[in-house]
Amino acid sequence: MLRPYGQNKIMKLTQKLTLAFLLVSLIAIGLAAVFVWATTSIEFNKYIVDQRQGQFVAVVTEYYQANGSWRGVDVALRQQGLLPPVVQPGSKPPEPQPFALIGPNRVVIIPGGQYPPGQKVPDAVTGIPIEVGGVLVGTVLTTGQAPARNVIEDRYLASINQSLLVAALGGALIALLLGLFVARSLTHPVRELTAATRQMARGKLEQRVPVRSTDELGELAQSFNQMSADLARANQSRRQMTADIAHDLRNPLTVIGGYLESLKDGTLKASPERFETMYAEVQHLEHLVEDLRTLSLADSGELVLHRQPVAPGELLGRVAAAYRHQAEQQKIDLRLEVEPGLTETSLDPERIEQVLGNLVSNALRYTPEAGEIRLAARQVGEGLLLSVQDTGSGIPPEVIPHIFERSYRGDFSRSGNESGLGLAIAKSIVELHGGSLRVESAPGAGSLFLIALTDPDYKRE
Ligand code: ADP
Repeated sequence: MLRPYGQNKIMKLTQKLTLAFLLVSLIAIGLAAVFVWATTSIEFNKYIVDQRQGQFVAVVTEYYQANGSWRGVDVALRQQGLLPPVVQPGSKPPEPQPFALIGPNRVVIIPGGQYPPGQKVPDAVTGIPIEVGGVLVGTVLTTGQAPARNVIEDRYLASINQSLLVAALGGALIALLLGLFVARSLTHPVRELTAATRQMARGKLEQRVPVRSTDELGELAQSFNQMSADLARANQSRRQMTADIAHDLRNPLTVIGGYLESLKDGTLKASPERFETMYAEVQHLEHLVEDLRTLSLADSGELVLHRQPVAPGELLGRVAAAYRHQAEQQKIDLRLEVEPGLTETSLDPERIEQVLGNLVSNALRYTPEAGEIRLAARQVGEGLLLSVQDTGSGIPPEVIPHIFERSYRGDFSRSGNESGLGLAIAKSIVELHGGSLRVESAPGAGSLFLIALTDPDYKRE
């Protein structure tokens, strides 16, 4: 059976982590075992040498005390097992001996290692002096050869080595189990993320993975959840927008189509009013298409600004002039408040006029008769603050977070030229200028839209 995409990789990651953990543990255990083994062997050999040396010195001293000479001392040493039995012809030569005995004249009496019988040993070679009655009668030399271990000593060393081996194997087993556990718990969130990503790839965008820790994996899970929620929301609003656009495109088309059909059939007579109605619908369609184009240009970062130094007062004056007639018709007081002495600011006048026009036309739409709309410009720090304030209906707090969204909401009470994308476009344009657009509003208290712009050339002046 074919494994789902990605599973092979995850399995491998677990194995790799387990193996890495095991390898590190094995190296550490191995090094520790070798070190303990070497130290134990060296110390144990030292102990045996010390012990044998003590015995050797004691036996030879006792012998000399009893006999007054070294003759026959080898027999006494053999009896105590401190010298190997006499070599029979044809049998294996004895092991090199760890100790040698020299007489007061430094001639070798009991040979061992590099000291053969009868040889005179130089004075520089020192050993343990054997004194009887205050007189130096001989010296015991150490040859550096390891003494043969007896059965008990061998067994002791073997049991230590065995314990070391068992400890090393036990350690390796624990390392393997721990490694497996750590690897699995590390890759578990990765597996969950992979499964969730696969679901997203199948179109189920709303996915949540549990956030199990505060480490990097936890952070990844959190970001993933955030991304998934954002994507799901964006997808939902895109769908809603498409449906609403289709709906709003159909309305004017139905009107125009209906008129044209009746005019063609002759059931309606052509009149300037009818053409005016059809033209208004065509304008509405044009406006909608233009808004969609602007938004998609802004989305793809292709909206180009034509900046030039602009006097804020003149800019606001042009916007006010464009809407003065409509305001008078609605009996709304359209006021202009421009702080004196404002410097010119570098901006795209057409685009900023489009933003202000949109804000003023919204204000006109939501402000009842005898209301007031104030268009203002003032300097704030190094920036320019433009504002459009009305005494209209205000915006409910739950609506405020959504008014700048790039979602298109069907609103059939909308007047002819509104696309419902106005604030989204306004925000894009202001942000493209490096500025910000925000709103302060409450139901019944009117709305205040604030455009904060900073002149990119300001510091150079
Ligand atoms: P449209 O006005 O065509 O719906 P906009 O993007 O311009 O689209 O505005 C979005 C929403 O913000 C409006 O539907 C309205 O609910 C709210 N809004 C905007 N300006 C005002 C205002 N001056 N007073 C009250 N509500 C407003």
